[in-house]
Amino acid sequence: MPRNKPRNDDRHIAGRRLHPASLMMTYGYKPELSEGALKSPIFQTSTFVFRTAEEGKAFFEVAYGLREKEPSEEMGLIYSRLNNPDLEILQDRLTLWDEADAASVFESGMAAITTTLFAFARPDTVVFHSGPLYGGTDHLLNAVLPQFGIKHHGFVAGASRAEMEQALDEALAMGPISAIFIETPANPTNALVDIQACSELADRAAAVQGGERPPLIVDNTFLGPVFQRPLQHGADLVIYSATKFLGGHSDVIAGACLGSQELMDQVTALRTFFGTMCSPWTGWLLMRSLETLELRMTKQKDNAKHVADYLAAHPGVRKVHYLAHLEHGSEQHRIYEDQCLAPGSLIAFDVKGGEAEAFALLNALRLIKLAVSLGGTESLAEHPATMTHADIPVERQADLGITPSMIRLSVGVEDPGDLVADLGQALASI
Ligand SMILES: *Cc1c(COP(=O)(O)O)cnc(C)c1O
Repeated sequence: MPRNKPRNDDRHIAGRRLHPASLMMTYGYKPELSEGALKSPIFQTSTFVFRTAEEGKAFFEVAYGLREKEPSEEMGLIYSRLNNPDLEILQDRLTLWDEADAASVFESGMAAITTTLFAFARPDTVVFHSGPLYGGTDHLLNAVLPQFGIKHHGFVAGASRAEMEQALDEALAMGPISAIFIETPANPTNALVDIQACSELADRAAAVQGGERPPLIVDNTFLGPVFQRPLQHGADLVIYSATKFLGGHSDVIAGACLGSQELMDQVTALRTFFGTMCSPWTGWLLMRSLETLELRMTKQKDNAKHVADYLAAHPGVRKVHYLAHLEHGSEQHRIYEDQCLAPGSLIAFDVKGGEAEAFALLNALRLIKLAVSLGGTESLAEHPATMTHADIPVERQADLGITPSMIRLSVGVEDPGDLVADLGQALASI
């Protein structure tokens, strides 16, 4: 049965384990199965032809879990809601960065988050979480899951260990915890959440409530997979909005979830029934993007350092929130050293003044575009208080560190001197 599954030794040459960046162009794809095409074709098909009725029967037995797979057997291609070569090759490549057993790709980051939370949360259980969370995730927890009897309780990114433990005890008093969901660094403040500490909280929840450990799910969109690998710090599942760095060109909406085979089997089974998988065309676009993932993220990270240093020294700027500027010796810096490989390319900064001054700057930018979203090749600026985080009440915004004078920047791959020139003329115009 011809399948596009990689051989295990595809990852090694003469005993050397190849870096993921080296494998993004070829891993998991066999040209001989596609007329020798160097690149994977777009398998734009809804269904797949079985060679025999016996083969079709065998594929369904595996797909529906009617029997255990033979050791060398892979799930056959049946129908593109279940699987498709463009999705499978992409998933295999994604697992390499995070060293995950398995991955599932979705048509959006929200599809990944919704499908994953529904795979574990049950009525009368609690989702324990960090805050602030991405607006869509926040709405899911606050407005959608409660309709299914699923409660939630959280703590603020940057909270002390004792505060996190207290919040966990409060959550446990509301009911059993079915999942822990965190986002680190937090958006837009770059506050970090200690992944290892949350993993210990998951163990503690399991001990208190008896039964299985609730999965620790980390939204790794901001730094991963190149600069943060949560599975190595005790996370059970990693989620991406692939719309951001993975896609990287602001031209596709997609998402992903990665983790152990056991947990991913549950997530992927629900993807089949929710129908939240991505299309072959989206899968193909993401494979193209992954070839330059490390190149882009590295250039963006270098540019961001240049921009953040410039802003920190500018008299019109009150404060810069940027991971490479964390105070040495602080708890946040310790977490950074433990779990992050680089500061990434998201910066928030407060201009001197308030909303009017922030708007004046945003309106004066010329090269940097005024738009939400992040992680693309172009630099984007936005105003969290009135845009991405507008639905958070003003008092809560203040608790979370979101001010009227704050601007969030996603730094792209442009010439860093040009970016600084644009920010300089915009700051001068206030
Ligand atoms: C954008 C984003 C999402 C949602 O992803 P979509 O692809 O827009 O559905 C989730 N989490 C974070 C951190 C994001 O930035």
